[in-house]
Amino acid sequence: MPRSGPRLGIFGGTFDPPHVGHLAAAVNARHDLGLDRVLLVVANVPWQKVGERPVSAAGARLELVRLAVGDVEGVEASDLEIRRGGESYTADTVAELLDEDPSRDLFVIVGSDAAEGLPTWERVEEVRARATVVVVDRPGGSWGPPPGWEVRRVEVPRLEISSTDLRQRVVDGRPLDYLVPAPVVSGIERLGLYREPR
Ligand code: NAP
Repeated sequence: MPRSGPRLGIFGGTFDPPHVGHLAAAVNARHDLGLDRVLLVVANVPWQKVGERPVSAAGARLELVRLAVGDVEGVEASDLEIRRGGESYTADTVAELLDEDPSRDLFVIVGSDAAEGLPTWERVEEVRARATVVVVDRPGGSWGPPPGWEVRRVEVPRLEISSTDLRQRVVDGRPLDYLVPAPVVSGIERLGLYREPR
C-alpha cells in the first residue's frame, strides 16, 4: 500500500564490480518514478551466488559502490546489509528500512534477469506486500511478471555491460574505461581486485 512519506528506491546487488549500467538503471528509475533517493544496497552474502564463484569481500564492493556513486544526485551507497551481516535477504532490508521510518514508500528495483528469480526470493510475499516491485527493462523487452504479480516497469536503454565481463577484462588486461566511472577503475587497481582468473 502506498505510504505518504519519502519515496525510497532499493536497488540491491552484489556489485562485483558496479558499472555504468547499474548507475543508468538507478538514475532512470529515480527519474521515472519520482523517487527522493535510490539506495545501492551492497549484498553482504548474496546467498544465491555462493558456490557459483568466489565473491569479493563486502567491504571492497562497498568501497567501489561509494566511488561509483560519487556525487550523483539522489543515488547513495548503502552498507545496511553489510552491517546486518549474514546472508542478505531483501525482505529483511525492507523491514529494516520501514522500522527506521514507517512512512517510507519503498520501491524494490531489479533488472529483468534478476526479476526472473523473484519467485525464489526468501519471503518474497513480504517484499511484495510492503514495497512496489520495479523491473528495469529495455524498451520492447519481453519480461513479464509471474501471474498475479503487480509490478512497475521502467524502460532504460540497456547498456550491455556485465560485472562478469568486467572481471574478465581485468584478468586479460583489457580496459575498463567508460564502462565503469573513472574512480572505480582506480579503486579496482588500488585494491588489487580481479587479477586472478576465477
Ligand atoms: P548484481 O548482479 O550485482 O546486479 C545488480 C542489479 O543490477 C540487478 O538487478 C541486475 O539485473 C542489474 N543490472 C546488472 N547489469 C545491468 C545493466 N547492464 N543494466 C541494467 N541493470 C543491470 O546483483 P544480484 O546478485 O543479481 O542481486 C540483485 C538483488 O537481488 C540483490 O539485492 C540481492 O540481494 C537480491 N536478491 C535477493 C534474494 C532474496 O532472497 N531476497 C535472492 C536473490 C537476489 P540483471 O540481473 O537483470 O542484470
